[in-house]
Amino acid sequence: MNLILIGAQGSGKGTQASILVERLGIRHLASGDIFRNAVAQGTPLGLEVKGYMERGELVPDRITIALILDLLRDPAYEKGVVLDGFPRTRDQAKALDDALPQLHRRIDRAIYLNVPREVLLDRLSGRYVCVAHQHVYNIKTKPPKTPGICDIDGSELIQRSDDTPAVIETRLQKFFEDTIQVVHYYRAQGKLLELDGNQPIEEVSRQLLLGLGLDPAQAKPGS
Ligand code: AMP
Repeated sequence: MNLILIGAQGSGKGTQASILVERLGIRHLASGDIFRNAVAQGTPLGLEVKGYMERGELVPDRITIALILDLLRDPAYEKGVVLDGFPRTRDQAKALDDALPQLHRRIDRAIYLNVPREVLLDRLSGRYVCVAHQHVYNIKTKPPKTPGICDIDGSELIQRSDDTPAVIETRLQKFFEDTIQVVHYYRAQGKLLELDGNQPIEEVSRQLLLGLGLDPAQAKPGS
């Protein structure tokens, strides 16, 4: 199954993606993680995209589309993929639709986690990630057991450089202006599954699995 997960920053996309990966045995491909790793490692791609990311702007389509389409050619994604953070513009969605038939694949469903802007602002301003593996915490809704320390690997918790109030504003504005076009794009194709993301994680994932025709109570295949 090839799925697209659409949601603003702080909508719980990453969490639901992990649930889908576990349940369906497919791969997770997050464009933001790929760009962040490239910046951290100082690769040529990282140097090219660093400025856009720090300002909370979108990386230009010419860079993003080539990168993601190239990655999708990897046989590792043949069994299926959850695309997270891509496509983010109508042109990216169109490029994906044009390229997938050559790989004998197509997008089955696009899932939109709908969360009101005020809730997103509140969630993002309290968000911290660990330096070792980017495990996510929130000082209000999911605090670590020891303040400032990751429960899972003991590393330090920091705020992402693009989770500062000014950058959060720009990123959310970009989402509601640009990425919402991608929601309309898949709705027009009859592939959209829209969920209320302003509910507990378990309830969102229950509705998500039901929406995909899966039994939320059943264990993942093969387990
Ligand atoms: P994310 O972790 O998905 O919020 O992405 C972090 C940053 O990476 C974004 O603010 C953009 O600068 C860049 N980025 C990630 N995915 C895309 C995309 N599909 N198109 C353009 N820029 C992207």
